[in-house]
Amino acid sequence: MFKRLLVSMHAVCASVVWAQPLLAQDTISVHWEELTAADFATAIERAEGTCLLPFGVLEKHGPHLPLGNDLLNVRYASLNAARQEYAVVFPEYYFGQIFEAKHQPGTVAYSRGLQLQLLQETTDEMARNGCKKIIVVNGHGGNNSLLPYFAQTQPETPRDYVVYVRGLPGAGEGGPARRSDPATDMHGGERETSMSLVARPDLVHLDRAEQESGADRARLALPDGLYTGIWWYARFPNHYAGQGAVASPELGAFSARTWIDAIVEATRAVKADTTSLRLQQEFYERSRNPLAPR
Ligand SMILES: [Zn+2]
Repeated sequence: MFKRLLVSMHAVCASVVWAQPLLAQDTISVHWEELTAADFATAIERAEGTCLLPFGVLEKHGPHLPLGNDLLNVRYASLNAARQEYAVVFPEYYFGQIFEAKHQPGTVAYSRGLQLQLLQETTDEMARNGCKKIIVVNGHGGNNSLLPYFAQTQPETPRDYVVYVRGLPGAGEGGPARRSDPATDMHGGERETSMSLVARPDLVHLDRAEQESGADRARLALPDGLYTGIWWYARFPNHYAGQGAVASPELGAFSARTWIDAIVEATRAVKADTTSLRLQQEFYERSRNPLAPR
């Protein structure tokens, strides 16, 4: 059974790779760190100043997935998207929000202030190098509040660039039938593990997926709309939510396609967006003197 799965995994991986059209733009790398200085300038021009910042974290992913799983997966999706709709992709960035997994081995949880400062200095430096449109591509649910907050606070001071956030993708319409409950398939479960089977099958230990429970422990009863930070630990103390064991390369290929398509769509929309920067500049101008007659 496992061998058959491996064979079909390889078939799916191969089809995902083959599905990428070989465009002329593939001749220049989408990887920031692989470009020469001169080629970097060409790349920024080709990307129309649009850059992707795949955003992950280092944390446990159940008993069967690698610590860098989110970053590996979001980079897989971002790099494939950038090859399809050219953009420059920033190197590995794993400085996100992950306090809720500090009790698990291998988690790297930078302080709250540093998360924001490092991200700001990173986008400032990207912009100084010509990335005037930066799409932070989120790969980790624990960043779902951090990244919109970061983008929301950009108007604090004038900037000559725009930050966009591409949130985690939805499940997508259609696709293979699910084998586990989508409601609790949240972390290291069927969908995420399936995606990993496509992005880095060599790092997935499916045979270990049932060594721990990913069930919802439901230890905290609060009404809807009332939030507290320990909610995740209350529900999933193993930092595992769902059933990774039922993952499949077919669902992985579907999830990968859905994610890549979403990033391509975002990149095209951002390239076409001439409004955000103009309104930002207008806003900064007005905020300098709110009482000025107009
Ligand atoms: Zn995560």
